[in-house]
Amino acid sequence: MTTLDAKLDRVLGAKSGKALETALGLVTVGDLLRHYPRRYAERGELTAIAGLEIDEHATVLAKVERVTKRTMKSRRGTIVEARITDGHRSLTCTFFNQAWRERELVVGRRGMFAGKVTSYRQQLQLAHPEYQLFDDEATDIGSAAEEFASALIPVYPSAQGLPSWSIARCVGQVLDVWDGTDDQLPPEMRDRLGLADLESALRKIHRPHSFADVAAAQDRLKWDEALSVQLVLAQLRGSNQSHPAPVCPRRDDGVLAAFDQRMPFELTKGQREIGEQIAEDLTVEHPMNRLVQGEVGSGKTVVALRAMLQVVDAGRQAAMLAPTEVLAAQHARSLRELLGDLAMAGELGGAEEATRVTLLTGSLGAAQRKKALLEAASGEAGIVVGTHALIQDRVSFADLGLVVVDEQHRFGVEQRDALRARGGEETSPHVLVMTATPIPRTVAMTVYGDLETSALRELPQGRSPISTSVVPVAEKPTWLERAWTRIHEEVAAGHQVYVVCPRIGDDEETAGKGKKKTRKTAVDDSDGGGEEPPPEDGEERRPPLAVLDVAEQLGAGPLAGLRIGILHGRLAADDKDAVMRAFADGEVDVLVATTVVEVGVNVPNATVMVIMDADRFGVSQLHQLRGRVGRGSAPGLCLLVTEAVGGTTTRERLDAVASTTDGFELARLDLELRREGDVLGAAQSGRKSGLKMLSLLRDEDVIAAARDEAAHIVDQDPALRNHPGLARMVAEVVDADRAEYLEKT
Ligand code: ADP
Ligand code: MG
Repeated sequence: MTTLDAKLDRVLGAKSGKALETALGLVTVGDLLRHYPRRYAERGELTAIAGLEIDEHATVLAKVERVTKRTMKSRRGTIVEARITDGHRSLTCTFFNQAWRERELVVGRRGMFAGKVTSYRQQLQLAHPEYQLFDDEATDIGSAAEEFASALIPVYPSAQGLPSWSIARCVGQVLDVWDGTDDQLPPEMRDRLGLADLESALRKIHRPHSFADVAAAQDRLKWDEALSVQLVLAQLRGSNQSHPAPVCPRRDDGVLAAFDQRMPFELTKGQREIGEQIAEDLTVEHPMNRLVQGEVGSGKTVVALRAMLQVVDAGRQAAMLAPTEVLAAQHARSLRELLGDLAMAGELGGAEEATRVTLLTGSLGAAQRKKALLEAASGEAGIVVGTHALIQDRVSFADLGLVVVDEQHRFGVEQRDALRARGGEETSPHVLVMTATPIPRTVAMTVYGDLETSALRELPQGRSPISTSVVPVAEKPTWLERAWTRIHEEVAAGHQVYVVCPRIGDDEETAGKGKKKTRKTAVDDSDGGGEEPPPEDGEERRPPLAVLDVAEQLGAGPLAGLRIGILHGRLAADDKDAVMRAFADGEVDVLVATTVVEVGVNVPNATVMVIMDADRFGVSQLHQLRGRVGRGSAPGLCLLVTEAVGGTTTRERLDAVASTTDGFELARLDLELRREGDVLGAAQSGRKSGLKMLSLLRDEDVIAAARDEAAHIVDQDPALRNHPGLARMVAEVVDADRAEYLEKT
C-alpha cells in the first residue's frame, strides 16, 4: 500500500528519500505530493534572465551561447565558463576544475540550469550550477526526458543539490505507485462548489496536460487550505465565547468620566466609534478579543486608556504591554501625563477617583521592582505598564480585567492563550491588541480571524503631512549633501531630526547580511596565481551602515556643530531612557538610532527622518519609522537613502513607500511586490506550512467564502464530530506552526 503516510525512503529508496528529507524536509508521500510546483514552463519557453534576483536559487530554461575554457595562472586549475541565454540577456555559469563540462555544454543546446544567482563584475552568474540538457533542438524540451513528457514542465521549489528535475522524477515515481486517497471534503460541498476531488487535484497539480488542469487543481487545493484555516479560527472564536470574562459595566461617576471631562482634545470620529465598540465589549461576560489597527499617530493610546479606565471603574486592573522597555517607560509617562491627578491615588494631591499607573520593567532596581510587584498583586495599581515578556510570565494581579498589547501585531494566538491560562484565574481577561501596521483584509481574516478587528483610519486634526523622497546616492550623490544642509536648516528653525541605520556597529553582531562566506577550495587553489577567479558568491555586499560609524562621521563632517545623540538596543535601559528623554526635551538635535525608534516614540518637535540604507528595511517598517515625524504642527520629511538603482524591485519598494502615506494601500503593495519577487523560486525552505497554494493577495474571495462556510459548519457542529474528514484537515493545520501564516505575508 502506498498511501500519503508512506515513507519516501521506502518508495524511492534510501538515497532519494534522504536527499528529499535533508534538502526540503519531505518525509512522507503526502509531504512530497504537497510540495507543489512553483510554476510551469511551457514547451520551448526560455526563462527571462532579466527577471532574476541576486541571491535567489533559480531554475532557468536557457540555451548555451558560448563556452570558453581557461587555465588559471596557478597552472593547476581550469575554469570553464558557459554563457547561457534567453535570447536577450545572458548569464555566466562557471565551473572550476571540471574541464569535461566543455564537451557537454555544446553551443546551441538547451537545458535547465539551477543554482544561486550571483553577480561578478556587473555580470550575472550561476556558480557551479546543476543542469540538465535536453536531447537536441529537434525534439526540444518536450521529449527530452521522461519527466518532461507533458507540454507543461513543472518547476519545483528546489534546493542546492536537489534541482527541480530530480524532484519531478521523484514525484513521477511516487504518483505511479500511489494508491490515491479518500476525499476529506463532504461530497455535497464539493458538488455545490464545483471542486475537483482530492486525488485528481493532486495528480493534476504535478502532471497537468493544460493550464486548465492546473487551474482546476489549484482551485481545489486552495479551498482546502482556506477552509481548514477558517475552521480552526471558527473553533477558536467559539471556544473563546465559552470562557467567562470579568464583566466591566460602564459607570458615569468614575475615573473614566472624570478623564473624559478633562481630556485635552476632542476625540476623532474613529476614536469615538471604536471606543464605543470596546466599551460595549467590556460589559459582556465573554472576553473581548479585539485588534485595533490605526495609522501611526492616529491616537490609539487614548482609546486604550479609556478602555483601561472603564476596567478600573469596575474595580479591576488593566495591564499594558509594550514591545520594548523604552516604549513601556514612555507609555507610563504619557499615561500619567494624560491622567494628571487621576493617576495619583494615595499621593498628595491625588483626585478622589484616582488610580495608579505602575511601571514594571526588567531594569528596575530590586526595591522598586518589589514595590511594583506588590502594587500589582495588591490591586493598588489600576494600570500596570510593562514589556510583553515580563508581565506575561511573572506578575500576579489582584484582579486582571484587561490586557492591552501595544504595537505588537505579531501577538499570536498562543501568546493570548498563555495570558489566559496564566495563574489559573477563573476568568480570562479581555484582550485589546493595537497595531500601527495596517493589515490587508485577507491577512486579517486569515491570521487574526479569531479577533474582531477595527480600523482607525483618520488622523487627529492638526496633524501635519509627511512627504517622503528617495535619495538615490548611486545616481545622485549630491542629493545626500543637500539632505544634510536641509537638516542644518531644520535644526536652526528649532526642530529635531532622526537618522536611522540598520545596524548598531562595533561588531559583536554575528548574523547579518554582510557576513563573509567561506570559499570553495577550488577557488583558494589559485590564490597568488596572478589571475583572480571570481569568488564563489560573486561580489560581497557591503555590510549595512551602522549607528556608531554614521554618528561619528556625521559629527565630524556634514553635521558638525549639532548635538548628536545615539540610541540602540545594546545601551543599558537607563541610558536608553536618558537619551530618549534628552531628545524629547530638545537637548539633542539629531538622534542617530536603530529601529528602536520604530514604534510608539512620540517627539512632536522632530520633523525630519533620514533612513540610511533604506533598502535594508521592509516596507511596513519604513512606514512605521517615518510615522515618528510630522507629529507636531510642522510638516514632516522622510528621506530614504539608498544605493539601489532605478528599475530594481528594491527601488520599486522604496518608490512605493514614497508614493503614498496610506498604510493600507502600502500593505497591499508590499504583499504584491513580495509575491512577484519570488516568482521563479527564491529561498526554498523545507518547512511545512499550512498555506502553500493560497495567496493572501489574490485569493480574497476564496478566503471570504471559506470563512462563511466554516462559521456555518462550526456553528452546527463545534467539534466537527459529524465531519470526520474536515476534522482531519483541521488537525493537519493545527500541527503546522501558526506563526508561519504570518511569514507568508
Ligand atoms: P499612535 O496611534 O501612533 O499610538 P498616539 O496614541 O501616540 O498615536 O497619539 C499621537 C498623538 O496624538 C499623542 O500626542 C496624542 O495625545 C495625540 N492625540 C490623540 N488623539 C487625539 C485627538 N483626538 N486630537 C488631537 N490629538 C490627539
Ligand atoms: Mg502608540
